Amino acid sequence: MRRPLIVGNWKMNTSLADATVLATSIRNAAEDLDVEIVLCPPFVWLIPLAEVLDNAPPNVCLGAQNMHFADKGPLTGEISPLMLKGIAKYVILGHSERRIHFSESDEFINDKMHAALNNNLIPIICVGEHKKMPLDKRERGRPTKTELRSDVLNQLSKALDGVSRNQAEKIVISYEPVWAISKGTVQSRNSADGAYANAVIERLRQTVARKYGEDIAQRVRIIYGGSVSASTINEFIYQPEIDGALVGGASLQAKEFINICRQAGGRE
Ligand code: PEP
Repeated sequence: MRRPLIVGNWKMNTSLADATVLATSIRNAAEDLDVEIVLCPPFVWLIPLAEVLDNAPPNVCLGAQNMHFADKGPLTGEISPLMLKGIAKYVILGHSERRIHFSESDEFINDKMHAALNNNLIPIICVGEHKKMPLDKRERGRPTKTELRSDVLNQLSKALDGVSRNQAEKIVISYEPVWAISKGTVQSRNSADGAYANAVIERLRQTVARKYGEDIAQRVRIIYGGSVSASTINEFIYQPEIDGALVGGASLQAKEFINICRQAGGRE
């Protein structure tokens, strides 16, 4: 069974004091939480938080929110995989905010996938469609391949280009419908529901299976991201294809995030 994975993406939030308090609270709770937890603070807090997590239970670790693919060079403002190695275990790649605001292309993201894997960083590759499906199709619960091909499945195929079978089983895929990010709750008509997210994730797993075989596809963790909170995590975590969540806004409050982890851990 794939162990649930909960990733907190803090984005461009927290002071050092906030980050320290948040990470300390999660570290102290982690032992009782039956999930793997990845905290992704802003780059500048990675080193101080590595100290906070020193001697933390093994189910909590750090991830980076992004990186460049090059080892070093004249790339002002960028962070390389060599700099992250040894500090972060995971790295988020292809987040929709990077694709939208920084024009990151599928090719650029694929280069980063290779750089992460070659440096023993586990990529959390984000894919998601921009346009909400018409309500009737969403309610049908199973988007067709044609509906998905233009965005989600293509993004995944391009991210996996040149990735070997051995490397593929390590990666995490995060399905994040762009229209559902930062939208509050799943009760809102703007957010994805569990059955819909499960259907898309099933398609993503089939894409992995076609490329690498069913055994690898069954090992790859595919999580959901988009307005997950403590009151909505159960909508997703009990779906058979969904292995956890990437949490943005709700990961900034220790109590809320720990509650999400606790509920996700109860799945097994
Ligand atoms: C995200 O940033 O990937 C995300 C899912 O954010 P939120 O939970 O705030 O929608």
